[in-house]
Amino acid sequence: MSAKAIDNADCNYGSHLWQLVSADLKKCYGQNLYNSWFIKINFQEFLGSNVILRAPTNFIRDWVLCNYYHNIIKSFKNYDSNISVIEIITAKNIEFASEVKTNLTVIGQDDVNFDDLSSYSDARYTFDNFIVDSSNRLAYTAAISIAQASEAIKSYNPLFIYGGVGLGKTHLMQAIAAYSKANNPARKVLYISAEKFMYQFVKALRNKDTMSFKEKLRGVDVLMIDDVQFICGKGSTQEEFFHTFNALADNNRQIILSCDRAASELDDMEDRIKSRLNQGLGADVHATTYDLRLNILKSKAMQMNIEIKDDVLEFLATKITANIRELEGALNKIIAHSSLVNCAINLTSARTIFKETISLKKIDVSIDHIQKQVAKKYALEIHDLNSNKRLKMMTRPRQIAMYLAKYLTIQSLSDIGRQFGNKNHTTVMHAVKRIELLCHNSYEFKSEIDSLARSIKN
Ligand code: ADP
Ligand code: MG
Repeated sequence: MSAKAIDNADCNYGSHLWQLVSADLKKCYGQNLYNSWFIKINFQEFLGSNVILRAPTNFIRDWVLCNYYHNIIKSFKNYDSNISVIEIITAKNIEFASEVKTNLTVIGQDDVNFDDLSSYSDARYTFDNFIVDSSNRLAYTAAISIAQASEAIKSYNPLFIYGGVGLGKTHLMQAIAAYSKANNPARKVLYISAEKFMYQFVKALRNKDTMSFKEKLRGVDVLMIDDVQFICGKGSTQEEFFHTFNALADNNRQIILSCDRAASELDDMEDRIKSRLNQGLGADVHATTYDLRLNILKSKAMQMNIEIKDDVLEFLATKITANIRELEGALNKIIAHSSLVNCAINLTSARTIFKETISLKKIDVSIDHIQKQVAKKYALEIHDLNSNKRLKMMTRPRQIAMYLAKYLTIQSLSDIGRQFGNKNHTTVMHAVKRIELLCHNSYEFKSEIDSLARSIKN
């Protein structure tokens, strides 16, 4: 084949891969986010094991890299394990103004209507259907106290709820909104995702209308911003966030924020903001316990008025440990299946339904199990993996175990760190990068890790 033909073949293959990955991203993030960001990105070329993509503007490139890099590379690797790095390039010399403009044609379709704040409460999420146990009690108690209070609670301002995905942070914020709407409708409560906050801010900048944006935000009694880890990297948005925050707190308005990690772990956030976020109450939602999972399943089945045998619920609570969102998905699947075949679900059929899902989505791999297998393979004890000892015979297996935890479970870096002797998420990130590099540089090493991963999954 001529060099040109190889280039063309590469390009076709690359475009095809990007189509597959884009379809995954659409499935994962939904049509709206897909239209906002990924639809505008094209495959450019391969450079060795690097995939080069092309974005129309720096703004889109930065946003996508900042928020979605990890999932993009993960999805690419699912299709081609040789891929190790994704780069996004842009056409040079694009003015900031035109970037904002390009982006905002999409943003306009997704505006938050500030005048109809109530539309942002989701009726499914209430305090009544939130199951409490030791893993979420602090966050629950603080949230319900805020909902019941008539004004801001100083010692909880801000309330900073943090923890891994699918553990009830959004549920609690929505429950505050729902409670206020029902019991104290005069209290102005605004729930907004950090991404929408950023959209609105950029839109106001473009329209030279930041004053009314500020006024609207500052006119609320309770401001909730969900997933503040997305407010990162952009100087002016952080600045606005900080001023809004101060203005509200100074006026004794309540602020509630959620985040996938502790405030101190927000690497891209300015220090003065981090320290401000720490001045109220930080409420950590921990990984779920077996009892919590079982109680949630029982409560959901009861709400739906569907009888499911205890052994089936126990099976789900044992197998699906990652988070509550996954657990709900599993329960819905069981219910859908039983209505489809029109028979009550029993343990054998539940097992059959899940066999495929579990091995596909790897949701039954626990960090305990990964640690056990890695310790066994390298003739160590589990506490060696969780310790801080820097002996080489321990650090490499520890990094491998963290890497596998990242790829075989859907737990956040912070959650993983916590389960490795309370380590910081940056330690986990460092371990993941280190192992990725070693895999990239040595085929033998990569095979060793792949075979370890397979034995853990089976
Ligand atoms: P997060 O915002 O932390 O990612 P969500 O609040 O979206 O998680 O929760 C994911 C799903 O799990 C939601 O459907 C929510 O209702 C449910 N859920 C989470 N925690 C609980 C709980 N303690 N009791 C009942 N349902 C819960
Ligand atoms: Mg959430």
